Amino acid sequence: MSDQDTKLNFETMEAGDFKDFAKAMTDYIAEYLENIRDRQVVPSVKPGYLRPLVPEQAPEKAEPWTAVMADIERVVMSGVTHWHSPRFHAYFPTANSYPAIVADMLSGAIACIGFTWIASPACTELEVVMLDWLGQMLGLPESFLARSGGEAGGVIQGTASEATLVALLGAKNRTILRVKEKHPEWTDTEILSKLVGYCNKQAHSSVERAGLLGGVKLRSLQPDGKRRLRGDTLRDAIEEDTRNGLIPFYVVATLGTTSSCAFDALDEIGDVCNEHGVWLHVDAAYAGSAFICPEYRYLMKGVEKADSFNFNPHKWLLVNFDCSALWLKEPRWIIDAFNVDPLYLKHDMQGSAPDYRHWQIPLGRRFRALKLWFVLRLYGVENLQKHIRKHIALAHLFEKLCSADERFEIYEEVTMGLVCFRLNDSNEKNEELLRRINGRGKIHLVPSKIDDTYFLRLAICSRFSEESDIHVSWEEVKASADEVLKGQ
Ligand code: PLP
Repeated sequence: MSDQDTKLNFETMEAGDFKDFAKAMTDYIAEYLENIRDRQVVPSVKPGYLRPLVPEQAPEKAEPWTAVMADIERVVMSGVTHWHSPRFHAYFPTANSYPAIVADMLSGAIACIGFTWIASPACTELEVVMLDWLGQMLGLPESFLARSGGEAGGVIQGTASEATLVALLGAKNRTILRVKEKHPEWTDTEILSKLVGYCNKQAHSSVERAGLLGGVKLRSLQPDGKRRLRGDTLRDAIEEDTRNGLIPFYVVATLGTTSSCAFDALDEIGDVCNEHGVWLHVDAAYAGSAFICPEYRYLMKGVEKADSFNFNPHKWLLVNFDCSALWLKEPRWIIDAFNVDPLYLKHDMQGSAPDYRHWQIPLGRRFRALKLWFVLRLYGVENLQKHIRKHIALAHLFEKLCSADERFEIYEEVTMGLVCFRLNDSNEKNEELLRRINGRGKIHLVPSKIDDTYFLRLAICSRFSEESDIHVSWEEVKASADEVLKGQ
């Protein structure tokens, strides 16, 4: 084949076929999402289902895009769990909206890697402004925002787990430098062996993992009867460890625990952290989105005492994964901790805008601020508030239906879009209930266990969920309970 043939061939594909493919996919996406309710929420495939459906090797010759399109249902959708179906109630939600999908398309087209300001100035600058917009929407204190004119500001991380680790590394750096001022003779290794952090026993597993990755001790503390970490418990632990020669350096307060959506007593914890000069990080991965509604901000009282605050717009704010917002009052502790500056990444404007590569673990980063920009503009704060309030109202509807059936009990107070409930019966009966519910295949839930009590979690996940869907889900739970209790 001559060069000319190759050129012509690619031209036809790029200019014609592939654009048609993109347009056809756009229609398919809309059809998929608009009719998602009709799909079976969890597929019935077995492990290994996919390999026999595709060839052993990549094709030597290009295939028509229509062949790929034809395989999407057969190969992919047959094995997809439909997280955006109103029948999906597992985990916490993950967000999905057309504005965010379209923004991801544009980000894919620009396809820049925004590790420094000069690598794509719009990528950095839109992120700085979007994190200021978002911070104001939540009612975060100005001391977290770039617009305050100081060093503070926000950054988009991939996940809450990364945010917890990044904050821990900043806290570690700050503490090591402070301790060295007092004890210049101590080595880094000596100091590191004394560092200790704290979190609620109910904190997400990513907190424990951050401790392991950061090479420091983390203590899980016992919460009160409402699953909240309290200030006194933290104070006792810090004082005990200090007496034993350890150096308390980091606390994670969780607003909306994964198991039951409990809220740590942030105000009390903040006082203790400030008294002892300990870095306070707030993990509000799921529930943080609700703070755009002023009526829920009482749950983050004391946030001004924190050093870092994180939540996932990709969970509950209609911004597709990944988009985890982290604000830092003093990003220098992180920037300094991670700063390696090879010549090929230097540029003339260094210092006049953030080089976000210093604020995160990877070097590369996508243009994720576009998703925030499109979503915030095309929904407006008002419609995003409606979305949050609707999900919470739907959770209360399920709570009401469940509470009216004396066979059930509500395990945790419902404050957000999560209902924790169980049969008034043994753990085994509740395990059987969940098996039946998921086995019937109409809805999907996951369980949790706190202090040996097993319960079921029903999260409102889909942006398509309506009251009628909650009635369908309740009927499924009820029918499964009938089967379990009648011993069928
Ligand atoms: N923190 C809390 C409270 C969570 O509920 C979750 C996930 O549900 C996480 C952290 C982890 O989130 P990510 O997957 O963004 O790391």
